[in-house]
Amino acid sequence: MRIGLISDVHGNTEALNAVLAVLRAERVDAVFHLGDAVGYGAEPNECCDVLRREAQVSLLGNHDAVVAGLLDRSWFALHARLAAEWTTRVLRPDHLQWLANLPDMHREGSTLFCHGSPIAPRDFRYVLSRFEAQVIFGWMVAEDVRLVFVGHAHQCFAFSDTGEQPNVVDGIVQSELDIKQGCWVINVGSVGQPRDGDPRAAFGIFDVAHGRYQARRVAYDWQATAAKIRAVGLPDLLAARLALGR
Ligand code: ZN
Repeated sequence: MRIGLISDVHGNTEALNAVLAVLRAERVDAVFHLGDAVGYGAEPNECCDVLRREAQVSLLGNHDAVVAGLLDRSWFALHARLAAEWTTRVLRPDHLQWLANLPDMHREGSTLFCHGSPIAPRDFRYVLSRFEAQVIFGWMVAEDVRLVFVGHAHQCFAFSDTGEQPNVVDGIVQSELDIKQGCWVINVGSVGQPRDGDPRAAFGIFDVAHGRYQARRVAYDWQATAAKIRAVGLPDLLAARLALGR
């Protein structure tokens, strides 16, 4: 079984469609979405439509939680808060309902999928450092989990407990990891708003039987996405950053 792993679509239809086209061409068996379907982008309804149709698993992200009224928006930066308020206004009621009922985590055997850190998932903690990954490794042993896939940070990386240096996936080139041994915490990156300096949409393909993970990128029409963000009057920063992948 091969699973297409996507996260942080953030209302970006062009990026989502570009990624799904690759996953279709790759003939993956399932698509798992690790949260943040909405927020920042101008097409939350379109993205919810596509994800509800195409993803076998969808998880709750912090932006989804804020938009659905499950999480206080006051700790958001201003541009994120404005986008969340706009999204709540324009989102169809059935999509709001769908977001409000998304699960925090999904588990298959010893593999766990979550938006941020799986320890207290509703705290939406980022996993950005070796130290944070180390804390999760301890938790994973107790929970009998070997692989954790997350999103949330909008950056691609992988940490393993093999005692080596942090195994950071280079977001610029296509990378493939052998994850058959040891514990791993892998961030699949962001489809709709990458922040690692590469503007291309990020996603991953997890080959379950062979224990391999591929970090992938695909170019999409970010100019079209940026134009839509400006057209609906969302903060310009949200359009401008797409060109930079920041
Ligand atoms: Zn996000």
